[in-house]
Amino acid sequence: MKFDELGLSDPLLKAIGDAGYESPTPIQAQAIPHLLMGRDIVGIAQTGTGKTASFTLPMIEILSTGRARARMPRSLILEPTRELAAQVAENFATYGKNHKLNMALLIGGVSFSDQEEKLNRGVDVLIATPGRLIDHFERGKVLLADIKILVVDEADRMLDMGFIPDVEKIIKLLPPIRQTAMFSATMPSEIKRLTDSYMMNPRNVQVDATASAAQTVTQGLLRVNGGFAEKRAALRKLVRACNVGNAIVFCNRKRDVATLEKSLTSHGFNAAALHGDMHQSARMETLARFRDGEITLLIASDVAARGLDIPNMSHVFNFDVPMHADDYIHRIGRTGRAGKEGHAFTLATRSDEKFLDGVERLLGRPIPPIDPEGLQKDNAKGGTKAKKKADTEADESSSESTKDTDAKASDAEKSPDDVKAPRRRRRSSRARSDDAKTESADNAPEATDDDEKSSEASSDVSPEATPEEPIERPRWMRSRRESSSNDSSRSRSRSGNDEVEEIKDGHGKAFGKEEYTPAFLRR
Ligand code: AMP
Repeated sequence: MKFDELGLSDPLLKAIGDAGYESPTPIQAQAIPHLLMGRDIVGIAQTGTGKTASFTLPMIEILSTGRARARMPRSLILEPTRELAAQVAENFATYGKNHKLNMALLIGGVSFSDQEEKLNRGVDVLIATPGRLIDHFERGKVLLADIKILVVDEADRMLDMGFIPDVEKIIKLLPPIRQTAMFSATMPSEIKRLTDSYMMNPRNVQVDATASAAQTVTQGLLRVNGGFAEKRAALRKLVRACNVGNAIVFCNRKRDVATLEKSLTSHGFNAAALHGDMHQSARMETLARFRDGEITLLIASDVAARGLDIPNMSHVFNFDVPMHADDYIHRIGRTGRAGKEGHAFTLATRSDEKFLDGVERLLGRPIPPIDPEGLQKDNAKGGTKAKKKADTEADESSSESTKDTDAKASDAEKSPDDVKAPRRRRRSSRARSDDAKTESADNAPEATDDDEKSSEASSDVSPEATPEEPIERPRWMRSRRESSSNDSSRSRSRSGNDEVEEIKDGHGKAFGKEEYTPAFLRR
């Protein structure tokens, strides 16, 4: 199937061609025709499948006729996190560059007044996190009576983060006659209830998450004897044994993110943490540095890293097995995106065992084991003498500097029950701002990247030696961009300024990247 068979107009096809896409992904091929016909759809797809374009492309097409009135947006996209909202805004900028549509991004951590000014000028596409949108609505700054298209993205994440009551409240404020698309990687009963209650005879479109993960991601499991300290040592060896370009390291607990980042940094790795306690500008800046290749290892929680689209990320490391099996799919979906090759390696101690069962049941097969002996041998002969000496010294100093945090983290491992599971939490008060929610959910894992390992990747015993059976890539995955670039090279973001706060309006210029780059990201 080709894009020009989907019913999209020439300006859109041109923008798609400029983005380097040759053929639609399966979710795009399924969803776009239905949405262009004005149908409601339920899309079962995770990030990495091209689902964002599957709704942004038809939205641009549908909205290309008509104009927005002040404070009355014509379409609404709800996203669970600020970062995801910013990514969707970036997608609109890419695909809508030949259209005269105005867009506004309503996310927490950004001044209300700028957002209000944008709303006053009239927006065609409003991209928002639920808490911030409700705040604006309650202040009378936005009216939702003219919304013709609603997209609820990452509905299962909305559920995890306790946003469903807000989503439902927002839906009730919309006109009943509208088009609705809901996307979710999984379909828990609460989400099913939403689709039954608020959608009109929706078409289901589905991409098999587990199958798509298996196609492009080489997975491996490293069993570790011991606790937090042993796991950290094992991670260092693993990272050094891999040819890491850039990677996310996921932890289940926010406090472990900080400890692990400190430990990795003291061992000479180029790592940074991403968690909900960080100020929004610091989060955006860390992400920009990661995308620009200044940071190799991003240590993050599930919540902080949700849905991030980092092109060409070479590896994902699960420092902990996620507590919820579908988080495994979300995590490994950070690599091997859009047909690129990816690697996802998971560390497991005895305390991870119960979660591992759930993951392997979801995958329908065991994760292939990584041989720890091979890794140690590899590590022993992999680095230069100078590097090994530095590591030894760093190890010694780290065992001092991280003693306290290790002890605490070990406690956490012994009593995982004291970690509140993020799933199906309900917010109890109006303190349910997006920020508060994101942060409270940060008992979940975080990830860190490390660059040092790429220079040490001379090992011939690497986890890549345990690949899954090769599967031929579907045609859509072989984009022009991919074939013209080296998979293993670290690529920059499409714009070099990935975090979008808001897109300036001005007909004819709307969506131009240079128009909306927030000041704090301009270099
Ligand atoms: P998403 O699932 O929307 O987060 O998209 C994942 C990645 O796939 C993004 O980097 C998109 O730019 C890329 N992508 C989306 N559609 C296509 C396509 N048809 N061909 C190649 N890459 C695509």
